[in-house]
Amino acid sequence: MVEVDVAVVGAGVVGCAVARHLAIDGASVALLDRAADVGDGTSKANTGVLHTGFDTEPGSLESRLVARGHGLLTDYAAAAGIAVERTGALLVAWDDEQEAALPALLAKADANGYASARLLDAAEVRSCEPHLGPGARSGLSVPDEWVIDPWSVTLAFATEAVGAGARLLLATPVEKIVSGDGGHELELPDCVVRAQWLVNAAGLGADRIDALLGHHDFTVTPRRGQLLVFDKLARRLLCRILLPVPTARTKGVLVSPTTWGNVLLGPTAEDLEDRTDTASTTGGIEGLLRAGRRVLPALVDEEVTAVYAGLRSATEHRDYQVRLDAGQRYVSVGGIRSTGLTSSLAVAEHVAGLLDGAGAGWSGPAVSSAPPVMPPLGESQVRPLQDPDRIASDPAYGTPLCHCEQVSRGEVRDACHGALAAADLGGVRRRTRAMNGRCQGFYCGAEVVALVADETGSDPGSLTRVPR
Ligand SMILES: Cc1cc2nc3c(=O)[nH]c(=O)nc-3n(C[C@H](O)[C@H](O)[C@H](O)COP(=O)(O)OP(=O)(O)OC[C@H]3O[C@@H](n4cnc5c(N)ncnc54)[C@H](O)[C@@H]3O)c2cc1C
Repeated sequence: MVEVDVAVVGAGVVGCAVARHLAIDGASVALLDRAADVGDGTSKANTGVLHTGFDTEPGSLESRLVARGHGLLTDYAAAAGIAVERTGALLVAWDDEQEAALPALLAKADANGYASARLLDAAEVRSCEPHLGPGARSGLSVPDEWVIDPWSVTLAFATEAVGAGARLLLATPVEKIVSGDGGHELELPDCVVRAQWLVNAAGLGADRIDALLGHHDFTVTPRRGQLLVFDKLARRLLCRILLPVPTARTKGVLVSPTTWGNVLLGPTAEDLEDRTDTASTTGGIEGLLRAGRRVLPALVDEEVTAVYAGLRSATEHRDYQVRLDAGQRYVSVGGIRSTGLTSSLAVAEHVAGLLDGAGAGWSGPAVSSAPPVMPPLGESQVRPLQDPDRIASDPAYGTPLCHCEQVSRGEVRDACHGALAAADLGGVRRRTRAMNGRCQGFYCGAEVVALVADETGSDPGSLTRVPR
């Protein structure tokens, strides 16, 4: 039996941010996820854009939380050493209809409190991005749309939450909840968690947790986004994030640098029934290449190093679905569709405010806490293999293991230990970048497996190579 003030279901970027916030506030917290690692759902498969919220619906909760989250996450990333590239974005209009939409988008940015967007004519657009395809009519510059390392964000929140006392219960599916006057009892495979308050941050499973509590306010429809990852040699082709004119359903197919030095093309937007279908399809990839050829023709001649897909938790509502049921001591955090990485810290702040307003009190005092220092994984950061002081302190940081991504043995070793130790090779990839380069582990995979098996005492055969 684990007794806590708050149980948070879902250890994606949102659940980890909520657990961190509440643990620092003095709550005893259990953070539960059915997966064996934090951030193993939608949060591991996004585009890593730190959005301004310029194109969100003015007056919506999403608009407010994305704008606030951008500032909070920028400061957090700086304190934690998480890579951010201040690239800016350029939204490009390719035809009459798209060109006609730009003034309204500028007005929308203004209505969202974002005042730095600016219209550009065709010559300005081309001088910003000389490799654009022919036919770019005009554009909208959004200088504060940046890219961030999304994996380190979730890991940092979880690390800080655990440091502030939260209990992380992984590989723990929540399927039965008994709620009553005394709070909630979550009946789990190995134990029972009794919590005064329940926060549902279950992403694609949020409507199902909601239904266990008797609520039927929204239904999740997974919206798949497939992406292509181009090799670092493509990075020279663009300076900014290249955005299309968004529609009501999707922000559209973008071309974006990553903090790891690659270029992303995607995502698609396909409504599915299967909440686990993260397959990449021929049709999806062909569509992306068609869109990419128009925006940046030279890109499609570059090498593709990986493909992946993530599922947005879209609902029948356009806005976030964050609701408090004070009587039931329950907060539901659903429908965090396309912007949850950016808004995560603001969502957490909002949830904490709702709980406070409902009179929730915590069993402990507020905890003094600072963001953990995360491994420097960004292409523009000094990696351990480039750092004479790190190498002098421990020669394992000077021994290359993954040559494509310049990862040392010391980093892979470190990823296998501590409160947030990687549970599998996917976890090692997200913590170190090992096997994420152009060979995708072809050369280093066996050595990485041997080292991880050695460090964790696992059977090398059980460590299968998993996709990112
Ligand atoms: C293709 C794509 C591109 C995107 N690009 C961006 C971007 O550039 N910028 C941005 O800000 N956002 C972006 N997003 C959105 C962002 O990734 C999501 O909003 C965010 O990751 C949602 O986080 P979450 O914690 O709500 O969900 P998740 O990460 O899915 O976490 C929910 C967790 O709940 C767990 N869970 C579910 N049911 C149960 C249960 N019954 N018991 C226990 N655990 C359970 C799951 O295992 C999962 O780990 C993108 C999304 C996609 C798909």
